[in-house]
Amino acid sequence: MGILENKDDIKGLVDNLNFKEKVERALALIKEAYKKYGDSLVVANSVGKDSVCVWDLAKKVSPKIRGFIVTTRFKPKETIKFMKKIVAQYPELKIYKSDAKIPDKLYETDPDKCCDILKVEPTRRAIEEMRVKCWITGLRCTEGRTRTDFKEVEERDKGLIKLNPILIWKEREVWQYLALNGVKINPLYAEGYRSLGCEPCTHITPDEDERAGRWIGTSKCGGECGIHTRPLKNIDGDGI
Ligand code: SF4
Repeated sequence: MGILENKDDIKGLVDNLNFKEKVERALALIKEAYKKYGDSLVVANSVGKDSVCVWDLAKKVSPKIRGFIVTTRFKPKETIKFMKKIVAQYPELKIYKSDAKIPDKLYETDPDKCCDILKVEPTRRAIEEMRVKCWITGLRCTEGRTRTDFKEVEERDKGLIKLNPILIWKEREVWQYLALNGVKINPLYAEGYRSLGCEPCTHITPDEDERAGRWIGTSKCGGECGIHTRPLKNIDGDGI
């Protein structure tokens, strides 16, 4: 049985594997998935710290692995600048964005709908256009209240495998990997952000929860944009 079929206890892995073992496990997961899915394996790179970590791991497995970035009109200018630098270095990263007309301040009145239009729809488009059979994400189970029940290998949408190779990593281990491997990060982290998203929905907070600064003051607080929870394939209509 390969590592993609493992039934290991996630909580046990989070607490019992050391940093080196977690790095080796992540590389093994990506390596096996690349062997199985080849060019239809793609990294979703939000250019946040977890994504640049996973991107670096994937590049160690094969420089040929492709990726996509979903960006929005509301991303901070620092993030856009950082994203452009990464894409200049890695042209195999394709940018997806929605130019749909949306009501003013939809992020305040209906943030779920705003994320659906600006983030989920371009993700679906990326998966379709890039003919993705397996996508790799930087999701981690210790990141916040909504991220505790994911698996390293999932098939939430039929025919689309999601691989979460750093699911068991703690925040400290991500920073450890980035520092040890000299991976460049968005300069906004130096200001105190721990989780980065669109400007109106991202704040600096002293809260323990890593994602507590996301969507403060809405029902979505500390939650998800929807790319990990909404269907991404086989949608009737626009799925919104
Ligand atoms: S994070 Fe905020 S601004 Fe960005 S798409 Fe979601 S609701 Fe809209």
